[in-house]
Amino acid sequence: TLILAIETSCDETSAAIVADGHIILSNIVASQIKSHMRFGGVVPEIASRHHVEQITQCIEEAMSQAKVTYQDLAAVAVTEGPGLVGALLVGVNAAKAIAFAHQLPLIPVNHMAGHIYANRFEAPLEFPLMALVVSGGHTELVYMEKDGVFEIVGETRDDAAGEAYDKVGRVLGLTYPGGKQIDQMAHIGQDTFHFPRAMIKENNYDFSFSGLKSAFINTVHNAEQKQIALNKEDLAASFQASVIEVLVTKTIRACQEYQVKTLVLAGGVAANAGLRATLKEQMACQLADIKLMIPPLALCGDNAAMIGAAAYISYQKEEWAGYDLNAIPSLEIDEK
Ligand code: ATP
Ligand code: MG
Ligand code: FE
Repeated sequence: TLILAIETSCDETSAAIVADGHIILSNIVASQIKSHMRFGGVVPEIASRHHVEQITQCIEEAMSQAKVTYQDLAAVAVTEGPGLVGALLVGVNAAKAIAFAHQLPLIPVNHMAGHIYANRFEAPLEFPLMALVVSGGHTELVYMEKDGVFEIVGETRDDAAGEAYDKVGRVLGLTYPGGKQIDQMAHIGQDTFHFPRAMIKENNYDFSFSGLKSAFINTVHNAEQKQIALNKEDLAASFQASVIEVLVTKTIRACQEYQVKTLVLAGGVAANAGLRATLKEQMACQLADIKLMIPPLALCGDNAAMIGAAAYISYQKEEWAGYDLNAIPSLEIDEK
């Protein structure tokens, strides 16, 4: 079963051909990062225009790299949300046009479900599972009893983890997005600042990163006023230590309470080397009987292959959309 998957929710235009929901035949990702860098963040109008310029070529490349024709396809899948409305619409309209022209089923996919299903390329998912989804716009713990069923058990009350990384990166003068660079600097520095670990002891699975962000910014500004030079690597290491300790502590607690078989890491921040290492270490010593799944680095960020993997679940249930499919910018993973 071959699915053509399309992803245009934010700033990467991507198209992929996925076989049986777990084999990648092609996965073309055209990143727009360079165009947004000088603005210090994603500019929605620029993102939409780039998607329009890139989408046809991305799809053609995905088809030719996989050596398939439209006759070989079983369905077309596309991210319907969450994301930027203008960006999402480019993918949705491309998918609709292809579905109509070639009489193929149209499968709408939730972007966050896609992030979770990026793990399906490593091995089959074993349920029940807990997913720690950490990305540019989301930080949530999602419980899954079975394929395609999602329950949010906790989430951030303010900033997403990736968003906090990028904001702190800007304060340190790094180019957007700063997440990866902070991660690299953190490995050189030490946790000397001991920033707060927000909500770590609270009896829930929610997170908060805005207090940490403020503590970080205040520390940097106070030092600037007093003309004291702070060690940037130590700042990065201290920030990262706080983020990781809170994420890992609450995730392990959630795994225990929900008695899951598997813990799945997902989203752009799943690429974080410190987070990957700490989760492995803590799971091995505290929850050795729970299987930990971490997506391959190349599939942590936005890509269409993960959309194809999630779409295969809907394909098996014949959950198609009509030609009235619309983009849903604030779609939640537990909706519908
Ligand atoms: P969402 O998936 O919530 O809609 P998004 O698609 O914009 O948001 P992703 O592409 O999934 O987000 O992830 C991008 C985020 O991941 C950015 O904030 C980026 O800084 C962060 N990120 C990438 N690599 C790392 C890393 N090594 N350490 C920390 N953060 C990272
Ligand atoms: Mg992105
Ligand atoms: Fe994403």
